[in-house]
Amino acid sequence: MSYTKRNDGRKFDETREIKAEVGVIKNADGSAKFQIGKTIAIAAVYGPRNLYPKFLQNPEKGMLRCNYNMLSFSVDERIRPGPSRRSKEISLVTERALSPAVDLSTFTNAVVDVFVEIIQADAGTRCAGICAASMALADAGIPMRDLVAAVSVGKVGDKLVVDLNKLEEDYEGGATDVPIAVLPRNGEISLLQMDGEMEVKEIKEALEIGKKACEKIAEIQRKALKEKYKGD
Ligand code: UDP
Repeated sequence: MSYTKRNDGRKFDETREIKAEVGVIKNADGSAKFQIGKTIAIAAVYGPRNLYPKFLQNPEKGMLRCNYNMLSFSVDERIRPGPSRRSKEISLVTERALSPAVDLSTFTNAVVDVFVEIIQADAGTRCAGICAASMALADAGIPMRDLVAAVSVGKVGDKLVVDLNKLEEDYEGGATDVPIAVLPRNGEISLLQMDGEMEVKEIKEALEIGKKACEKIAEIQRKALKEKYKGD
């Protein structure tokens, strides 16, 4: 089925409007809010702090521990509170997407906890969470090689698109969703998942479009960080 025009009028390679802010939670060591369209993620970072139970401590490197949670009221149909298979999977992929950017050797025996809360969801929540989390880690002063920018790319009907909204994910003619995370400085991809089907050629093309979008997202992340620290 031909998808000739996006349901919200965007160009096929255009993300939804992005807003980013750092330092939104006073009691956290680092925090950030990342909004893309109607999807809103908040991330709070605590640590480095001693890791318990002690047998989990590693004298060679610290632990990055991520927890992703979608709040009950984040979608129209109330979500049951508490962990689910989906939230556990997303917590794990968030951790793996962020790990290559964080210098774990600088906080041996310790843990850095990252809490991602999705307060409003309209698809792309794991990517928004990763964007917020990497800004919050930087805000907490955790040594990092780069920020991590994430976005979903994919195919709606017969068109490759960037940043699918929920209506596009549910497109009747079929949609494929490929969330990616990128370390913009060297182009390393630290998250690549796929829900649906695409030809290899299309995946390669979608990755190129996604990387470009991630570069723009990284600029917005950097700007938000600079905004907080400009007076310091
Ligand atoms: N969603 C929902 N209820 C759920 C899980 C997801 O309504 O229990 C919606 C929500 O808008 C979410 C979207 O489905 O953003 C897509 O979810 P998916 O698991 O593909 O992850 P995401 O795209 O959010 O990273």
